[in-house]
Amino acid sequence: MNLRPVGPRTRLTLSDRDARRPPAFGDRDAVKSLLAREVERLGHLQERLIASKARALLVVLQGRDASGKDGVIRTVFDGCNPLGVRVTSFGVPTELERSHDFLWRIHAAVPPRGYIGIFNRSHYEDVLVVRVRRLAPRRVWSARYAQINDFERMLSLNGVTILKFFLHVSREEQRERFIDRLHDPEENWKFRAGDLEDRKLWSAYTRAYRDALRKCSTPWAPWYVVPADSKTVRNYLITRVINETLSGLRLRFPRLAPEVRRLRVD
Ligand code: ADP
Repeated sequence: MNLRPVGPRTRLTLSDRDARRPPAFGDRDAVKSLLAREVERLGHLQERLIASKARALLVVLQGRDASGKDGVIRTVFDGCNPLGVRVTSFGVPTELERSHDFLWRIHAAVPPRGYIGIFNRSHYEDVLVVRVRRLAPRRVWSARYAQINDFERMLSLNGVTILKFFLHVSREEQRERFIDRLHDPEENWKFRAGDLEDRKLWSAYTRAYRDALRKCSTPWAPWYVVPADSKTVRNYLITRVINETLSGLRLRFPRLAPEVRRLRVD
């Protein structure tokens, strides 16, 4: 099973059922070994990305609290050379960031050619948390979908390949992960009181995610909904989309310049 980008005819219920482990994935160990193979393949594809310097890859991760954004970053890129990976987390904007347009801090973090950039949250917060918590009036956030599409199109025309993943976790699974976090002394530092407030706003977030995914899944920057209740399946599906995309770019190792080819090592 491979993920398909969100399109005009995609059913976007974002119900709990869609978050569960898809039945096509049977045996847990089998998925684990498929994942290991894809993670290794991503490492090889990244070497081509670095060497060819033809394009950058930007991976945008969005999802509710405990949907596994950190876990994806740790596992999916485990076979990559860290020198070529840049991770940026976007939290509440600073005063300086707020005094600029909402894409200013985002643009500054876009990876240069040869690099993989990972966004842990992103400019989509400006149509998600900002909308749900009424941090800006409707006329401000509702104009942003088109601004985001224009921005992402500009990036894609300038060498950035963009993939966006919504880690879709069910309400029940989030509850279990929250409880685990609260009881585990090595995990509970991740818990914020605000996480529970966002959980209370579950349906409002669902509506905001649905609009963002619908309005901003484009040929140049597609959105994928990832069933994220199973961590292994989630990681496998994401790695697979990244690998298919990178291999579709047909990146080549550069040929040696003639003067270098003539050199002899004594
Ligand atoms: P995380 O929850 O991703 O592990 P943090 O605990 O630092 O990381 O939380 C980041 C917080 O910043 C989230 O609650 C998120 O909604 C908020 N945030 C991110 N971008 C914006 C934004 N543009 N405006 C307001 N809040 C934002």
